[in-house]
Amino acid sequence: MIVIAFFIAHWYLCLFSQTFFLHRYAAHGSFRMSTFWERFFFIFCYVAQGASYISPRAYAIVHRMHHAYTDTEDDPHSPAFSRNVFTMMWRTRDFILGVLRDKMPIEARFSKNVPDWRTFDLIASHPISRFAWIGAYIAFYIAFAPSAWFYLLLPVHAAMGAVQGAIVNWNAHRRGYRNFEVNNHSENLMRVDIFFLGESYHNNHHKFPSRVNMAMKRFEFDPTYQVIRFFNWLGILRIVSDKRVSRPGPEPQQLLQA
Ligand SMILES: [Zn+2]
Ligand SMILES: [Zn+2]
Repeated sequence: MIVIAFFIAHWYLCLFSQTFFLHRYAAHGSFRMSTFWERFFFIFCYVAQGASYISPRAYAIVHRMHHAYTDTEDDPHSPAFSRNVFTMMWRTRDFILGVLRDKMPIEARFSKNVPDWRTFDLIASHPISRFAWIGAYIAFYIAFAPSAWFYLLLPVHAAMGAVQGAIVNWNAHRRGYRNFEVNNHSENLMRVDIFFLGESYHNNHHKFPSRVNMAMKRFEFDPTYQVIRFFNWLGILRIVSDKRVSRPGPEPQQLLQA
């Protein structure tokens, strides 16, 4: 059915743009690409995330803060310091807006080498753009939804990026399994990560933040890493650290000083 196909496509495209472009590229620099491809994926990210577009620059800065202050009171999103998932995500939103509106002091180590296309971010993050996307989702559902019950999915479309961020950031610091002892509450959510394209290997990721492959054990599988390998083979990007690198990826501080 076309509405379900649309929902699944939106879920995975939005998630892919987050884990591939915002997280592994913008925040961690796990691979490099030319300015052309960077701009291409800015636009891809905008189309995929639509109403819930997050500026790659703002995401990268706030996410680096998450790694630097994980599960402390300075963490932009820690379940350990939030009453519930909504207050946690509202706090994250405040950090993102603080960066976007230049209302928050940003240490140089958090902003070094982040992808920066301010004009595009201003347009893509503008309320007019967000409402236009929501209007498009509603129009699609009016045209194709077999019953009004399907309209219950519309809020998820409108907030897709935030919904996925909330699920991972809230749960992956509370429950799951650990491959590594780290000084925070990060856990791997599921053994074969088909729902979050590798993002749920959060304990692995906190141990090796800039490692491009988030899977570590034989039974773990990171689909996004396979796409990145393919893009690497095509020449779209160049992997900086992959599974052949046995040493831990650099911690954020090292990465930012590099
Ligand atoms: Zn985390
Ligand atoms: Zn990260």
